[in-house]
Amino acid sequence: VAHYLHNIKQKPELNAFLELFEEEAFAQADAVDKKLASGQAGKLAGMVIGLKDVLAYEGHSLQASSQILNGFKSLYTATAVQRLLAEDAIIIGRQNCDEFAMGASNENSSFGPVLNADDPTRVPGGSSGGSAVAVQADLCLASIGSDTGGSVRQPASFCGVVGLKPTYSRISRYGLIAYASSFDQIGVISKSVEDAALLLEVMAGSDEYDSTVSHRPVPAYSQLLQSDKKYKIGYIRDCFESEGLDAEVKNTILGVKDMLQEAGHQLEAVEFPYLDYIVPTYYILTTAEASSNLGRFDGVKYGYRSENATDLTSLYKKTRAEGFGPEVQRRIMLGTFVLSADYYDAYYTKAQRVRRLIKDKTDELLQHYDFLILPTAPTTAFRLEENTANPLAMYLADIFTVQASLAGVPAISIPVGRDANGLSIGLQLMTRSFEEPQLLAFSNYIL
Ligand code: GLN
Repeated sequence: VAHYLHNIKQKPELNAFLELFEEEAFAQADAVDKKLASGQAGKLAGMVIGLKDVLAYEGHSLQASSQILNGFKSLYTATAVQRLLAEDAIIIGRQNCDEFAMGASNENSSFGPVLNADDPTRVPGGSSGGSAVAVQADLCLASIGSDTGGSVRQPASFCGVVGLKPTYSRISRYGLIAYASSFDQIGVISKSVEDAALLLEVMAGSDEYDSTVSHRPVPAYSQLLQSDKKYKIGYIRDCFESEGLDAEVKNTILGVKDMLQEAGHQLEAVEFPYLDYIVPTYYILTTAEASSNLGRFDGVKYGYRSENATDLTSLYKKTRAEGFGPEVQRRIMLGTFVLSADYYDAYYTKAQRVRRLIKDKTDELLQHYDFLILPTAPTTAFRLEENTANPLAMYLADIFTVQASLAGVPAISIPVGRDANGLSIGLQLMTRSFEEPQLLAFSNYIL
């Protein structure tokens, strides 16, 4: 704990943490020491973990990096966090992120951007930017983030660390602030695949507080990391031919592909004809869900309340206009538009259908191949403010991560190289739902 607190204080400019739980973390550490001495410590004894500011932790502030939740303290603890604590993890603090997890650069936080520790003129990716930088810069051992369309994988790729998004429903979402509920999954950012496996093992599984959670038994992922199997792997040709793909990213990923082929795995090019549709489909559905989920922040129940209101309607309007940042407002407007009576069928219903096509095609490919490989992101970490004036350019940063989110399948980003500027390049692997054991074992093998 002292080591990480020291590192955090050395580099305040990274802006990765919004709040530190210093005294509590030391107290937890003391308690763990005692348990270790009596041989009763849990599986995560001594692991120092940071939480993205979207995970509820009883008695602690919870804001989703937004002003609309200013002053709000959580009344309960997320199931996933509860399970970490039960296994003696130490929670060191609350991490900066894009407001309500909406963004791909961590520039949408009301607490200011997070800087990439490899090059502070660049973004860490988003929305779990603070969580990724915290692991990158050794400010904690691992972070718990959330991934709706890439928010764990893309910042992991930009920061040279491991980012795991499990199968949709593998981890209970109870206590995770909802962005787009049919996509949201809690995920892990860590230095090693072993840590990701162990944390998943502890957090996953049945929970009476989340009606969508899977009741499948949870494998001991951390015991299943050795694999000498030869796999059948598809690489999505359309991704490698897409316009915005940086040449160094492309060559690095193709280099891994060749390396796997030489090692005896069977690699084949596959077609995925919906690449042009995945980002629009994702943004129609997630903004629709977000506009509904964010309806509860009205100045009455949680956090911030405008002082300029004169009646109930103006209380709602002013609270929301003052409390939500520009990107969140944009998405609420987009979402209410696609759900409005005149446009519902043209946008929302159609996007639901396209989501089904994308899911079916992805599942079909994964019946033939154990893994699909592709880059995590089309570029390495871009410069601060490079994409802020153009939301569409920012949305395209998600082009390779949203497929797994639309399909609900598990996916991981692992660091496989660096570009000429020394910036990290991530390889993304997808596999069939609930096949995290082979996803983790194969990632471990590649790393
Ligand atoms: N960049 C994507 C978005 O802004 C992903 C966010 C996420 O996964 N939470 O929606």
